[in-house]
Amino acid sequence: MPAHCAQKKQTFTIGILSLHPGHQHQLQDSPWQLTLDRLNQHPDFRFTAILLSPDNITEALENDTLDFIISDAFTYLILEKKHDVLRFLTRTEKFDNEYISSEALSIFTLKNNSNVTQIMDLEGKRIALLEGEYSTSQLFLEKFLKTHDLNIGKNVEILTLDRVDLALSWLEQGNVDALVTKSGQLEKQLDKATLESLRLVHPRHGWHAPFLHSSVLVPEWAFARAWFISDDVVNQMITYLIGHNKNDHDEYLQEQYHWTFAQNYNDLDKLFALSRELEIAEQQHQSSFSPKLQYWLSFLVICFLLVILVMYLRSSRDLNNRLKSSKESLELEIRVRQHAQEQALTHQAELAHVARLSTMGEMASGLAHELNQPLSAINTYVQGCIRLLKMEKNDPEALINALQLTAQQADRAGGIIRRLRSFVRKGESHKTYTDINHIVNEVTGFLESQLRNNQVTLTLDLEEELPPVLADIIQIEQVLINLLKNGIEAMSGNENPSIKVSTRLKDNLFVELCVIDSGHGISEDKLKRIFNPFFTTKTSGMGMGLSISSSIIEAHDGKLYAENNPATGARFCFTLPVTEEHLGNNNNE
Ligand code: ADP
Repeated sequence: MPAHCAQKKQTFTIGILSLHPGHQHQLQDSPWQLTLDRLNQHPDFRFTAILLSPDNITEALENDTLDFIISDAFTYLILEKKHDVLRFLTRTEKFDNEYISSEALSIFTLKNNSNVTQIMDLEGKRIALLEGEYSTSQLFLEKFLKTHDLNIGKNVEILTLDRVDLALSWLEQGNVDALVTKSGQLEKQLDKATLESLRLVHPRHGWHAPFLHSSVLVPEWAFARAWFISDDVVNQMITYLIGHNKNDHDEYLQEQYHWTFAQNYNDLDKLFALSRELEIAEQQHQSSFSPKLQYWLSFLVICFLLVILVMYLRSSRDLNNRLKSSKESLELEIRVRQHAQEQALTHQAELAHVARLSTMGEMASGLAHELNQPLSAINTYVQGCIRLLKMEKNDPEALINALQLTAQQADRAGGIIRRLRSFVRKGESHKTYTDINHIVNEVTGFLESQLRNNQVTLTLDLEEELPPVLADIIQIEQVLINLLKNGIEAMSGNENPSIKVSTRLKDNLFVELCVIDSGHGISEDKLKRIFNPFFTTKTSGMGMGLSISSSIIEAHDGKLYAENNPATGARFCFTLPVTEEHLGNNNNE
């Protein structure tokens, strides 16, 4: 039948909070065993108990594997909020001759320790916490100290001990400044002399607590049920735990612990709430700074920000000023450069003009010779006409023929004068599509007498049907004159001076014109400098011819370059770009 009875029994598991979870054998000798024995007197219920850490209890409640818990008030309150457990009994503990349902903490220091007279004095101190076997006072101590601005691990250090003698010796040796126990415990364990060597910090006496204590009073341990346990089961349990018959009254009074109806938790709630408020406030401030320190810190931060602001404003004003002045100086520089560029262009035009005038001066004798031919021919033809008229030979045809020849020569002379005038004219650049070979013929015709006077043999090697280039004819003529003149001068004293002018289409992109002389050539060191303005090796030279020529060619998007011939003499070439339109035509051809 016992087996049958066992089968019929409803089983329940009680989780008991312990500092030594898993030491089930300890349960046998613990005050809890009595509770278990009483409960197991129930005919239909069977109770088992296990010692569990706070974490184990939480886990078990999450898995609904615990039906009841027994825990200190602090842990209970947390579990109540998290897991809906509900207390139905509070433990009472025998103190002297009465059973009390409250507990508190007592903080002791040495009687003669004047450094610790109130709770606040524990700041920066070490405290020994004396934990009984079934006590979990650390949470209580932590909450209580927090209400006095003391934070374990930050401004107060806690050492947990379970031996009273060790705790006392630490206190005497000065290893710790205070000793904390559950109130009433030391009084029971120590002799009078030892107790008198100690002093309770912040002693207080709560109603229906027969002992002096330092902390607030909180309810003793709670017996609570899981959310799924019925009222009926709980009611029956209460009967077995609280009810006792008069026969065993004496025995009952011998027991250290009993259960009573659940106590009021208001004070404990307040302690938690206060502690939570402080925690929140602490998190918000994120520091343990005192308000005074915070005030000064805020003041410093504001000062720092003000300084930064002032520096920023000053630097931005400076920056603005600097930007403004650099903008002004940039504008000024641009104006100066524009002016310099305009002046350079004017100078260049003037120099080109001067160069042309001087060229014309040098060519004056040649021009005179050139003009002389048509003028003397005119003279001859006119003299012939006069003679015909004087002979009174009525030969109008001969007369007309002579006059036509006269007109032709006059035209020729006029052409020479026109060329001269256009050559020396000052003016804007005027680009037209032109045949480079035409320029060569014009210039070489122009310099014919000078070439002849210097016994220079001129060879023309002109590629036919070159694409036209967009050029200022006068300017390109000037470049060619400069090159020819330089060539002639470089060959002065040579026995067989010769100049070759060639034109060709280069890379299908440029028309290239080269003037190749048989002169003394250019030494390597001078080759780099001949295009510099005012560089000359001639006693009467200006050193501007090549510089001006180079500028003119560059203004036409071309390039002027010089090199020595392999044998003797120099070779000056310039390129002029063929316009895309004409390049296409040429390619098509
Ligand atoms: P200038 O003729 O007034 O000296 P250029 O600028 O025309 O000024 O020439 C600069 C210098 O380049 C000349 O003095 C001369 O030394 C050198 N040079 C120019 N053309 C030739 C050339 N065909 N052969 C050798 N040297 C030359």
